[in-house]
Amino acid sequence: MKKSDISAFFAILQAANPHPRTELEYSSHFELLTAVLLSAQATDVGVNKATRKLFPVANTPRAILDLGQEGLEGYIQTIGLYRSKARHLLQTCRILLEQYGGEVPATREALEALPGVGRKTANVVLNVAFGQPTMAVDTHIFRVGNRTGLAPGATPLAVEQGLLKRIPKEYLQHAHHWLILLGRYVCQARKPRCWECSVAAYCDFKPKTEQT
Ligand code: SF4
Repeated sequence: MKKSDISAFFAILQAANPHPRTELEYSSHFELLTAVLLSAQATDVGVNKATRKLFPVANTPRAILDLGQEGLEGYIQTIGLYRSKARHLLQTCRILLEQYGGEVPATREALEALPGVGRKTANVVLNVAFGQPTMAVDTHIFRVGNRTGLAPGATPLAVEQGLLKRIPKEYLQHAHHWLILLGRYVCQARKPRCWECSVAAYCDFKPKTEQT
């Protein structure tokens, strides 16, 4: 995709949704970190369903620790990999209390050192909680980055680095939300919905799909 096309591509996504938000529900940095940690290989809808019950009961590191492994599992057992996620979340809560006064740290290094927090989770927290122009490449962004020609790459890291390099600065803060939403609802995995895609004129994918 040409540089001028990349600007036009994001101008359209921005005009349609100037202030995109994550679809995960949260009301504090700790709730956001918890929701993102739980969302690995799970849907935002499924995570929200669980956290709507969990957060009113426990939404601080101390309160989650007090639930213990079994208590926490009871709230998140509808989410895939819930046992290991519960274990990681408890370990993370302990570190937050011991090293950060119960707060969520604002650096990549500190976030990635937390159990259950990888590069993607750290990128989401840095972007959504701390306003940093990071690019959290999930399955949707990986597909869209490759399919559209925005930033082809064999690994999520390669796509992340390509996107960071190619997306104009003024769009970087919200770019990952726009691309996730595009991938989730329009540029879907099995069959992209090119016939109703607002950025089709700038996307390299060929041939474009038609409604059947
Ligand atoms: S035109 Fe098709 S392939 Fe390109 S971004 Fe839109 S839905 Fe995806």
